[in-house]
Parts: sequence; structure tokens; C-alpha cells
Amino acid sequence: MHIRDKYIDRQNFKESEKIDNQEQFNRANEFFSQFPKIDLQAEKVRCPKCNLLHKVYCLKCGELLVNKELIPKVELPVNLFILHHNKEKHQKSSAIPAKFLSDQVEVKDFPGEFEFDEHTYILYPHQNAKYIKELSQEEIQGIKKLVAIDCTWHQTGAILETISKKYPNQKFLKLEDYQTYFWRYQHHSLKCLATIEAIYYCYQEYSKAMNIDKNYDNLLFFYKYTFQQMTESIKKEIGNPNVYEKIEQKKQRILQAKQDAKKEKQFKKLM
Ligand SMILES: [Zn+2]
Repeated sequence: MHIRDKYIDRQNFKESEKIDNQEQFNRANEFFSQFPKIDLQAEKVRCPKCNLLHKVYCLKCGELLVNKELIPKVELPVNLFILHHNKEKHQKSSAIPAKFLSDQVEVKDFPGEFEFDEHTYILYPHQNAKYIKELSQEEIQGIKKLVAIDCTWHQTGAILETISKKYPNQKFLKLEDYQTYFWRYQHHSLKCLATIEAIYYCYQEYSKAMNIDKNYDNLLFFYKYTFQQMTESIKKEIGNPNVYEKIEQKKQRILQAKQDAKKEKQFKKLM
């Protein structure tokens, strides 16, 4: 799973917002622990389409591999359309699993065919983007489709260019200030939200503006599950509660091995 940093205004990025990895891991741990522990099938099963072994779902084929009854359902006030860049693997997306949570979620790959109309709003801090609180009640009621762009910052440019050519009057929504609970912090700002986080907060803001008393926590079901799986498997493997430190050590070992291999290759060339 990659962090998606397009939901922030990068011009407002501040170095001072950086925190360290351990701190971010602890923040994530605290955040996810407010949701109940998820108990899904522990074994990997074969995807009927690609025949590969997966736990819970095969995102490549879009197949759910556990009993539907184990997965909560989320009722959305507005349909969700996830536009996913085909250069990114579905498996890395935080947003695509949302389609197992609601029939109102549609996933399309870009480039590809898609139709927007005046009731379609794209969640993106475009120069024309508005906060939901800036819209009139009539405008908010007119939102019938919410589009989330699911790709890296670099790929967003191509998607936006295509959309603005096809729909010059496209409407955009931007989010208020949030911080990510994505557990691998890396070098981004805390304001860089994962796509599913952006979607979650957008529905919260929409419902607040529409006076709808609803909870969308289950939109984060698979996001929490991924975090839970990651911490559990590492704990099991290493038997150490300080999971984060071990992930870092593992990463360093892999990096070192790669560098060694590169040096060896260069050395062989010289010989
Ligand atoms: Zn498959």
C-alpha cells in the first residue's frame, strides 16, 4: 500500500510537519485500536480467476475470497467512483477494497472509458476546488457521484489533463485539514492522506453538511485489516513487540543486500 499525497496542497507543505517513523507507527497503532479487532479467515485460498493464493481478496481480479457475511456493508449517501491509474497495481491501492464494502463503489482503470456529468464531483485540491462547507444546500444535494483519483502524484497530472479536456467545467471538492494514519511515514507530510482516508473524510464532511447522522468507520475496514495483518505477522515471525524497529531492520538488510549486489556487478565489470 502506498501513500497518496495528492490530497494535499504541496505548496503548503512544511518541513516542520515531519515526524519520525516510530512516532507515526505509534499514532497509527493508537488510531486503529479504536476499531474492533477483525477476524477473517487465516488461510490463503486460491482465486478462482487467476488461481493464485491470496488472503481475503484478490485485488488483481477483484474477487472476494472470504464469506461475504464476514465483511461489513457500508451505505454511502453518494455513489463512489474510483479512477485508478493502470500503471499502479490494484494490490497497492487502499481504496479499491472499498468495492467489497458497498455495491455503490465502482472502480475503473485509467486510461479507459468513463462518463461524468454536472452531478459528478472529483475529490482533488484542484485550483477550482471548493470545500463542501462552501457549497449551497442545493449544490450539495446535486452531488450524485464522488470521484476519487487513485494513483501517485505524478500520474495525477495525466488524469486531470484528460478530464479537463473532456469536461472543461468539471467540479472539484477539497478536504479540510486532516492527518494521515498511514503507518509507514517516509518523507511525506502528515497531511498526505491515503486514498481511502480522503474518501472517508469526504463522506464525513458531506454528511455533516447534509445533517445525516451516519458513521462511515467501516470504509476503513480493510485499511485497518492491512495494518492488523502487518503487525500480527511480524510479531509472529519475530516474537518481538517492538514491531516497528524490526521492520526498519529488515528494510535496511534488504537495502544493504541490493547495494552489495550492485557493487559486485560493478566490480565484475572492471575485472
Ligand atoms: Zn485473482
